[in-house]
Amino acid sequence: IDPVSYVRSAIRSVPDWPKPGVTFRDITPVLQDPRSFRVLIDLFVYRYMRQRLDLVAGIDARGFILGSVLAYELNLGFVPIRKKGKLPYRTVAEEYSLEYGNAAVEMHTDAVRPGQRVLLIDDLIATGGTMMAASRLLQRLGANVIEAAAIIDLPYLGGSAVLRKTGLPIYTVCDFN
Ligand code: 5GP
Repeated sequence: IDPVSYVRSAIRSVPDWPKPGVTFRDITPVLQDPRSFRVLIDLFVYRYMRQRLDLVAGIDARGFILGSVLAYELNLGFVPIRKKGKLPYRTVAEEYSLEYGNAAVEMHTDAVRPGQRVLLIDDLIATGGTMMAASRLLQRLGANVIEAAAIIDLPYLGGSAVLRKTGLPIYTVCDFN
């Protein structure tokens, strides 16, 4: 079995969560099994080891798990992109719209320096709103966002296509339809 199929088969689909009609793609089994966890992280390591990155930026909260392990393996620093109101120092925020209302992501103003080559990572791209806001935030701080990566894309929602149209390179390990 190839690495992508190995990771994909470890993802658990939970019907009707968080609400009826929605199928949640749960990555906790991928992390729980040491083999799928390693295969997953190694897919990212091999993709990015020759990219001369400066930093990995992970999105709250599952992007922290992936991003910190990947940053450590690539010998890079890690910076968190947090939900609003969690960071203690000076921050910049970027709002985005959810199905109901708004949300915002936040970073410390000194988290990246202008021109730094940053990899953005989260677990899943749905509408793309979270990735878009995170990438705008990084760009406002002067970062060069080399790619936005996730384990899962939901292509039927069109988020990854919209992100690519803005010129942001996207990499996802697998799709669910
Ligand atoms: P978007 O902003 O692209 O619509 O939603 C993506 C964000 O919502 C990500 O931060 C992701 O963690 C979370 N998310 C939405 N649906 C799912 C899902 O089915 N599984 C997982 N693991 N995360 C999801």
